[in-house]
Amino acid sequence: MDTRELLEWSARYHTPNYGRVPICLVRGDGMRVWDSEGREYLDFAAGIAVVALGHCHPRVTGAIREAAATLLHVSNLYHSAPQIHLAKLLCDHSFADRVFFCNSGAEANEAAIKLARKYAKERFASDRYEVIAARNSFHGRTLATVTATGQEKYQHGFEPLMPGFKHVPYNDLRAMERALDSRTAAILVEPIQGEGGVNVPDDDYLPGLRKLCDESGALLILDEVQTGVGRTGRLWAYEHAGIEPDVLTLAKALANGVPMGAMLAREEVARVLTPGSHASTFGGTPFVASVALATLATVIEEKIPERAARMGRHLVEGLRALAGSVPAIREVRGRGLLIGIELDRPAGPVVERCREAGLLVLTAGERVLRLAPPLIVERPDCDRALAVLATALGGPA
Ligand SMILES: *Cc1c(COP(=O)(O)O)cnc(C)c1O
Repeated sequence: MDTRELLEWSARYHTPNYGRVPICLVRGDGMRVWDSEGREYLDFAAGIAVVALGHCHPRVTGAIREAAATLLHVSNLYHSAPQIHLAKLLCDHSFADRVFFCNSGAEANEAAIKLARKYAKERFASDRYEVIAARNSFHGRTLATVTATGQEKYQHGFEPLMPGFKHVPYNDLRAMERALDSRTAAILVEPIQGEGGVNVPDDDYLPGLRKLCDESGALLILDEVQTGVGRTGRLWAYEHAGIEPDVLTLAKALANGVPMGAMLAREEVARVLTPGSHASTFGGTPFVASVALATLATVIEEKIPERAARMGRHLVEGLRALAGSVPAIREVRGRGLLIGIELDRPAGPVVERCREAGLLVLTAGERVLRLAPPLIVERPDCDRALAVLATALGGPA
């Protein structure tokens, strides 16, 4: 079937909720993907910060082959070893004592919101269930998580939204302090806002939130669906701030492209999820847990976060140098390999020019270009991306 015909079928048979680019990707290897016409692309999108170890990483592919030929699914009625090993590995390498597995970022955040409500009701009072989130945040597309998401464009048309959510400006401790009261069950924020524009808060923000939570009894939930698993140059982004959350959510990179979400929590908090109180049919199947185990073990053993920090510095230096000669660039920000380039113009046409030149990049909001390459990226590919960006940004508005 030729590409033109495929794209016609796509337009005809899919629900029209995605504004897709008119290429059909058929194969990937490391930093590169190929389309159905044989064109090669350098991938600085990584499936929206998912493919941390690059496409078809040998250890991940090996785990997929082996798990697929051993046991795909048994349900959570039974134990399975890969899920147990993965839970232990996550706890051994984080603040957490316990892990709940699910299938996406939205579901991980749903679990965190449900946990926070149940914990606050049992520990404090039956009317304590509010979650305070930040404006410009992104937490997912289910009704509860799209309510938590502080951007009206994602909510429009889906009202009525869920009760029990408040929003305050991001990186504003005073506003958070004013919003906190005896009904607050949790504060839910991203340690760096991804979709909202790669917004890095001040150094005192997360420690300040930690203090507010300690004083009030509210839980600190960090959404690390995008920032987790090494993306920001540490295994978890909260490590930069020198604090620990009570609850943390993961998905995107966790199984390097096989769908998986997870919610991590401290013992005292996790305890309220008594048998039967929450569940997921697919959560943590032996298959996906084996793939996540291979991914996470590789990230830890090969010190992938440190490499992400190094390559991130190299890219940001290159971009800041570029900003000196390219007036379209307003600001370069980010941490590790989650980088935002704020422009004086819409980012969409720049993404298109990059793709035409063989480079895949992302936007984060209207005027921010986002780079989120696989964490295995090497200098020559960074330099090639910088060269393509220089050309794409130097062109007419
Ligand atoms: C992508 C993302 C989500 C949603 O994850 P899905 O797997 O699409 O449900 C939630 N929070 C953050 C910070 C994200 O980047």
